[in-house]
Amino acid sequence: MALIVQKFGGTSVGSVERINAVADKVIAEHKAGNDVVVVVSAMGGETDRLLKLANEVARNPNSRELDVLLATGEQVTIALLSIALEARNYPACSYTGAQVHIRTDSAYNKARIIDIDVGRVNKTLKEGKIVVIAGFQGIDEHGNITTLGRGGSDTTAVAMAAALKADECHIYTDVDGVYTADPRIVPAARRLENLTYEEMLELASLGSKVLQIRSVEFARKYNVQLRVLSSFKEGPGTLITGEDENMEQALISGIAYNRDEAKLTVVGVPDKPGIAFSILGPIADAYIEVDMIVQNVGVDNTTDFTFTVHRNDYEKALAILKKNVAKLGTKNITGDNRIVKISVVGVGMRSHAGIASKMFDALAKEGINIMMISTSEIKISVVVDEKYLELGVRTLHSAFELENGSNVEGDSRA
Ligand code: ADP
Ligand code: ASP
Ligand code: MG
Repeated sequence: MALIVQKFGGTSVGSVERINAVADKVIAEHKAGNDVVVVVSAMGGETDRLLKLANEVARNPNSRELDVLLATGEQVTIALLSIALEARNYPACSYTGAQVHIRTDSAYNKARIIDIDVGRVNKTLKEGKIVVIAGFQGIDEHGNITTLGRGGSDTTAVAMAAALKADECHIYTDVDGVYTADPRIVPAARRLENLTYEEMLELASLGSKVLQIRSVEFARKYNVQLRVLSSFKEGPGTLITGEDENMEQALISGIAYNRDEAKLTVVGVPDKPGIAFSILGPIADAYIEVDMIVQNVGVDNTTDFTFTVHRNDYEKALAILKKNVAKLGTKNITGDNRIVKISVVGVGMRSHAGIASKMFDALAKEGINIMMISTSEIKISVVVDEKYLELGVRTLHSAFELENGSNVEGDSRA
């Protein structure tokens, strides 16, 4: 007998019919002789609806109370799914995050799981019941309800699988696996058979919202076998595991994009020690996270300093820079929140040169101007005007021949 954690996202539990279909899927896993723990999200669109309500009541809703509100979405679906299972004569028991001791820090709206006490879940499983747990939520040390950030049910599922030492964790969603690019943007995108934790981590952190990044961090840390599957159609999905020598290693595994960033430039500041700190210090003090940074020295011993932040922090960051104008000795401050970051990801990059030039060449041929570049061992990211999002992603997808899967290591075209 195996222990399987199944997670169903918002679209998969978006209506009564779909909840009934999920109940059938859960029962099939149980009938196969497995213990089953199910993690569910709120019904599709519900979390957005609740957020909108809060924003109608107040411009800047209190973050503790916001979590009390947002956590209700998942409480509805755990109850409905358990009712559906019970009605089919399969004993089930629903639990909120607090009831199964998903302990988090107190960072409301983006809390991190600290630990999980699995006693109650194991006891319920021993009674032969199917356990249904609310995703996306936990409780802090003072007993306050917290939520884990958008897409957080993935993290609940993987953290549960790790704590329970489950044999597998199945993430059921509205696509039948992880693709070489978001299939909504690139119709020719191809489903990947398997992917390493590292690659998935890069894709998720660079904007592929198919899995919340923290869920992949948990999976890697605790070696949880993760499979992304469709709720609506049968198939093998995508397996995400550690690096295996026998795994067919793609040179490039995928293209990700992120339209949640904005860039700011401090123009013509004196090129002297401490300038980066004087620009970014006040930004950090305001708890604004900085992603990419580019600095280059001009002929007149001044430097243009550009960095990116989350779009939600754009106005705040701009205001901080403007406040510091005199201290920075800058000629001008400019900003642009209509940008998109497009990234090419692949572990094969470690051993192959020429990926960057191929990327820049392909974008240039389409007349797409690159504003910023950043690289790591297994990824190259560029910032371009957001109007080029679709063209840029599709161009790179075909430049690296991702649609036909021919770019495996050893390929002479690499
Ligand atoms: P759920 O509600 O089940 O958690 P999400 O909407 O969070 O589902 O994630 C699934 C979506 O992720 C897909 O509909 C797809 O548009 C998007 N997505 C982005 N990048 C990728 C990718 N590389 N592969 C598959 N899906 C992707
Ligand atoms: N319901 C939450 C959200 O919409 C969590 C999740 O779906 O994973 O972000
Ligand atoms: Mg999701």
